[in-house]
Amino acid sequence: LAPRLAAFGTTVFAEMSALAARTGAINLGQGFPDTDGPEEVREAAVRAIREGRGNQYPPGPGIPELREAVAAHQHRFHGITLDPGTEVLVTAGATEAIAATLLALVEPGDEVIAFEPYYDSYAAGIALAGGHRVPLTLRAPGFRPDLDRLAALITPRTRLLLLNSPHNPTGMVLTREEATEIARLAVAHDLLVVTDEVYEHLVYEGEHLPLATFPGMRERTVSISSSGKTFSLTGWKVGWVTGSAALVSAVRTVKQYLTFVSAGPFQYAVAEALRLPDAYFDDFREDLRRKRDLLCDGLAEAGFAVHRPQGTYFVTTDITPLGLGDDGTKFCLALPERCGVVAVPNAVFYDDPDAGRPLVRFAFCKREDVLREAVDRLKRLA
Ligand code: PMP
Ligand code: GLN
Repeated sequence: LAPRLAAFGTTVFAEMSALAARTGAINLGQGFPDTDGPEEVREAAVRAIREGRGNQYPPGPGIPELREAVAAHQHRFHGITLDPGTEVLVTAGATEAIAATLLALVEPGDEVIAFEPYYDSYAAGIALAGGHRVPLTLRAPGFRPDLDRLAALITPRTRLLLLNSPHNPTGMVLTREEATEIARLAVAHDLLVVTDEVYEHLVYEGEHLPLATFPGMRERTVSISSSGKTFSLTGWKVGWVTGSAALVSAVRTVKQYLTFVSAGPFQYAVAEALRLPDAYFDDFREDLRRKRDLLCDGLAEAGFAVHRPQGTYFVTTDITPLGLGDDGTKFCLALPERCGVVAVPNAVFYDDPDAGRPLVRFAFCKREDVLREAVDRLKRLA
C-alpha cells in the first residue's frame, strides 16, 4: 500500500458487519436497511434486464432517462433547474461521486475543510487526491458547526469545503442561518463546495437546504446524492453528481477512468424510483421518524445519553452514564458477546480518536421488531 494510504485498512463498516455475522448479533452498525426498497422499482430492474435495456455499456454520463429524472427530482424537491445533458452525471453510488469529485478538483497539497467526525470515505478520498484534510470538529451536545472557526481555518491553500447535511454520524442538519454563512464564506474566499446530500429525504427537524440554492453558490457547488438511502437499495450503487456544466464535466473526466460507466439496468429502475409520487418520500421519512423515536427512547431507558438526530438514520449516543467506562471502541468490540448487538464507535470518524471516545453510533433503518429486540438486549447491559 502506498504510504499516503497507510491509515486506510478495512473500513469499519465491513469490520463491524463481519463481527455481526460471526456472532449472530443484531447489526445496528453498518447503515443498510433490512427491508428492500419498493417492489415496483425492483421489478423495473428485472424488466430492464429481460428487455435488453442497459445490458451493454450505457452512455458514460448515465442513461438520458435517469439524468432527466435526477434533474426533475432536483426541481420538484429543491427548485433547482438543471440541464440533464450537461449538469447531471450518474456515478457508482455517492462513494464514487465523492472520490471522483475530489480527484477532479483537488491538487496535491490543497487543503480540504470537512466536518469532523467524517464519513469514512472522505478522509480516504482526500488522501487519494493527495490533499490535506482540515477538520471542522462538531462537538457534543448539538454538534453545531462553529462558523467563526470555519472562517479561521480558511487559508490561501483551501481549495474546497466538503460538507454533509444531514450529517452522518451525528444526525446534525444545517440551519438556514448556518447554510447562509457557509455560502457567504465560500463566495468571499472563492471556494468550491462539495455537498453530500445522500440523506436529503431523511430530515425530521428543520428542512434540507441544498447549498447550491444559496446566492453565488450554483456555479461553485457540486451536489452529490444516491438512490441507496432514499430507496433502500444500497446494493445497487446508483448515485449522481449535479452542478454547473464545467464542474460536472471535470468529475466526468475522472469517472471515465474509475468505472467508465455505471450498471445499466439499475439506472432504468432508479429513473422510475425518482418519479415516485411525493407520498413515497413522505411515508419513507415518517417510517424512519417512528424508528428513530423507538430506538432513541429505548436507548435512553437503557441508560445511554442520546443525541437525538435531526436527520439521517443514525443516532449517536454517549456511553458514559452506563458506568461501563468511556471507551466506545472497546465497548463496541465487546457488545456482541455481552448482549448480541453491533454498533459503530464514532472514534473511527475522527482524526484524533480521543475526540469521539465515549460516542457510539446505532443505525435505526431496521424493522421495528428488530429495534425492539435490540433495545431489550441493551437494557440488560447495565
Ligand atoms: N455519504 C454518506 C454520508 C453516507 O452515509 C454514505 C453511506 N451510504 C455514502 C456517502 C455512500 O453512499 P453510496 O452507498 O451511494 O455509495
Ligand atoms: N454509509 C453506511 C454507514 O455509514 C455504510 C456504507 C459503507 O459500508 N461504505 O454505515
